[in-house]
Amino acid sequence: MSTSPAAALLPCAELHLHIEGTLEPELIFELAARNGLSLPYADLAELRARYEFTDLKSFLDLYYANMEVLRTEADFADMTRSYLRRAAAAGVRHVEMMVDPQAHLLRGVPLETCIHGVAGVLAGSLEEFGVSSELIAAFLRDRPVAEAEDVLRQLVAMEAPIVGIGLDSAEVGNPPEGFIELYRMARDAGLKCVAHAGEEGPSHYIEQALDLLLVDRIDHGIRCLDDPALVERLVRDRIPLTICPLSNVRLRSVDTLADHPLPQMLARGSTYR
Ligand SMILES: [Zn+2]
Repeated sequence: MSTSPAAALLPCAELHLHIEGTLEPELIFELAARNGLSLPYADLAELRARYEFTDLKSFLDLYYANMEVLRTEADFADMTRSYLRRAAAAGVRHVEMMVDPQAHLLRGVPLETCIHGVAGVLAGSLEEFGVSSELIAAFLRDRPVAEAEDVLRQLVAMEAPIVGIGLDSAEVGNPPEGFIELYRMARDAGLKCVAHAGEEGPSHYIEQALDLLLVDRIDHGIRCLDDPALVERLVRDRIPLTICPLSNVRLRSVDTLADHPLPQMLARGSTYR
């Protein structure tokens, strides 16, 4: 995300955003100090040096390690407010934000702490930052599906202010087909459905997400280009893909920005309109 004056002139929407991924080194150290936690990094520079990734897994290792500092409702609120401040300065006027409740429950942080901390700030995001917002509860595809279903039941029971569910974390070997019942439960609860598919995983994970999970939108989806028939389907049915070129390069799904398929994908889309 750029914070240049030129970018600030362009209103934009952020549709693929993991709030825990917005934790910056300064806030990680601040929250660790506040909670009396010691970090495995001596200083900011040592933490920043870890932001060199070889693949999605290497990113997720740091992502999960960093969120250890999130313990209280105020921590989740400060993280959310910190993101919204930067996003507003960069021209973001609408965000559909994902949060990973399981990642916090597994650390012993109650669901209410996480949801109330994030959602409490989002409730006032338009007034405080000029950014409208929605919250999506994302589930960890590398955890048992029964655990996800249990968390979804709890979210529905507590009337968590979520608009939909998503599916994220380590993709390869964890196909959408294992989560059919979770997505049926979500639809029955009136929730929208999105899922990460085709980030590192094969193109047929995208087909599974569409055919089995009945998602409204695919997160990433860049591997669709391995299957021309799937590309035609995505274009014909106008299935939105939330593509993250800079993430794809940093996590080594794509070698360089010049190699990224986004221009090719945009060209294919416009052919059919
Ligand atoms: Zn993502």
